[in-house]
Formats: sequence, structure tokens, C-alpha cells
Amino acid sequence: KSTTLSPLLKMYQDATEFYHHILLTTKAGEKGLTYAKNRDLNEDILNHFQIGYAPDNDQILLTFLKQQGYEDDLLQRSGLFVESKDGQLFDRFRDRLMFPLMNETGRTIAFSGRRISDDPEIAKYVNSPETEIFTKSKLLYHLSEAKKAVRDEGHLILYEGYMDVIAAYKAGIRSGVASMGTSLTSEQVYILRRITPNVIINYDGDNPGIHAAERAITLFNQVAGFNLGIVVLPDNLDPDEYVKKYGKEKYQNEVEGALAPTKFLLQRTALKYNLHNEREKLAYVNDAIALIASLNDPVASDIYINDLAKEANVTIESLKVSLLREQRKQR
Ligand code: ATP
Ligand code: MN
Ligand code: MN
Ligand code: MN
Repeated sequence: KSTTLSPLLKMYQDATEFYHHILLTTKAGEKGLTYAKNRDLNEDILNHFQIGYAPDNDQILLTFLKQQGYEDDLLQRSGLFVESKDGQLFDRFRDRLMFPLMNETGRTIAFSGRRISDDPEIAKYVNSPETEIFTKSKLLYHLSEAKKAVRDEGHLILYEGYMDVIAAYKAGIRSGVASMGTSLTSEQVYILRRITPNVIINYDGDNPGIHAAERAITLFNQVAGFNLGIVVLPDNLDPDEYVKKYGKEKYQNEVEGALAPTKFLLQRTALKYNLHNEREKLAYVNDAIALIASLNDPVASDIYINDLAKEANVTIESLKVSLLREQRKQR
């Protein structure tokens, strides 16, 4: 690649290649490779995502980078090491499968290391700290690659974690990005908007994932012009687990069946009430009307009002009266 990289970017590139090389070609990497195989990460995936392995050794990266001629000051500022009280450096990542986190131009700016044992005493993920090249709130995993796929696939798909982006990739979807956990930031929303208005949210199908999707919709709605879709996977599955269990065609169908955000929110609202109870049904209809009113979209309102009339077994006319009243109230 380019030779005019800043020293820190160059260091991260060297570290990426180092960890990747260890994983694929060394004895020290066998443990990592076994874990990778168990998670269905084939060689094509390991290469595309530049995945590596940090052995259980707290000096191996340090020694390598020193041999490459990097100065102590830069090593200290890199975030790749932890510093003891007496100023000694130790590799931050040990015995972990290493996922390079890349910026929009595809340069590694940080790492996330996943534990390969199932020891709950050890943190499942360790991420690089923020540095002069890494701002966590702006990172979208796989963005540099995903944005090349937008023209073909028509959208970006937002996931919780990189294992999900990778699962989507295995299922033939190259437009996946991840917000690295469940709390999407407004910076990430602006970055997505710059690339496409069409975003599909596919968080984990568990409760935290569903709540995170609700929060994400609110955040996306603060920026004009998005066209959102929401995928909710069954049985608390995350996309990685879903692809593993049901295969890629089924997964692609789930993505194609993404719900409009209002539909998703209406379904969520319905779940809060027992619709066989008159009082609760009335409360549900009121909540639903408030949601539909906030759309400010006559055609969409019509669609949802029709659905609601059937669902609650009331007349469209009465719902329209309530809707008008609610719209006046919201204005
Ligand atoms: P796996 O399939 O490897 O168990 P996951 O991606 O399903 O992992 P989740 O618990 O669903 O894991 O978390 C989604 C994402 O949130 C992760 O990919 C990671 O980026 C982030 N994350 C989760 N837990 C942590 C943590 N303890 N520290 C840092 N990041 C985390
Ligand atoms: Mn999750
Ligand atoms: Mn998950
Ligand atoms: Mn998972």
C-alpha cells in the first residue's frame, strides 16, 4: 500500500499484517485458527477481514515493532500496549482473535480482540483505547468495504457486532457495517447518511437488541431523509447465529422482509397490551394513533389506520377522527 502513511497508521498496518501472519502460518497461531474454524471463519473470510491472532505472550508485538524501528514514544501513544507503573510496555492483546478496525479508507486504526477461551473470568472483548487516530464514536466496522457494495445492494445494513457483519458477508451480503455494541452515536448516523439514505437495522433479536433498534430509530429520525428498514430475527438470535442455524437464503429473506420503522414500532407497542381486554385495547389504539400521527405522511397514515381498524375491530372513520385530533395536539 501507500508509503506516505503517518507513523501511527504505518504501525497499525504492520501490526495487522503481523497478527494475520501469525494466525495463518505459524505454530503459535494454531489455537487461534482452531477457534476461527469453529466459528466458520474460512480463509477467504480471514483474508477479507484481515483477521489475526495475538498469542498468549505480552512481548511479541512489542519486540516485533521495536525491530521495525518504531520509537518508544510512538509505541506508548499507539494504544497497542499497557504500561506498568515503572513505564514498561506490555502487549495489550493476548490470546485473542484480532479484528482490525479500519477507517473509511480501509486503514487499521484500532483493534478489537475476542477471547478464544470460554472462561467467563476473561473479558469477551478487548478494544483499543481512543488515540489520535481512533475515535470510537465515529467508527463503523467494515465501512470502507461496505460502501463499495451500496450501489449493488441498494443499502447499508447496520449490525451490533463484527461477527454479524462477517456472517452477512458469508451470506453474500457485502454491505454490512457494525456500530460495535448497541449504542449507536449521532456521529455514526451522519456518516451513514453521507453514504446512503437507505439503511437497514439488523440488531440482535434479543431484548437488548430490540431496545437498541428502538433507540436507533429515534436517532435516525433526528436526521432528515433516511429510508429505514428494521429486521427482527426470531428466538433471540443474532444474525451470526441465524445464518448458522437457517442458512443464507432464509437470512436474505429476513433482510428483504425488513419492516418500515412505524410498522416495527406499532408491533412493539401492541406487545405491551393485552388486546383481549377492552381497556388495554383502547390504550393501545391511543398509543398507535399517536405514533401514526407523528408520521406526518398521509399515505402511510392511511395504510396503518386501515391495519389498525382491522386489528382492533373498530371503524376507519372513528380512527380518522382520533388521528386528526392527535395531529392537532402534536402540532
Ligand atoms: P460473539 O458472537 O462473539 O459472542 P457478539 O457479536 O454476538 O459476539 P454481543 O454481545 O452481541 O456479541 O455484542 C455485540 C458487539 O458489541 C460486539 O461485537 C462488540 O463489538 C460489542 N461488545 C459486546 N460486549 C463488549 C464488551 N464487553 N466490550 C467491548 N465491546 C463489546
Ligand atoms: Mn447483543
Ligand atoms: Mn450478538
Ligand atoms: Mn454472536
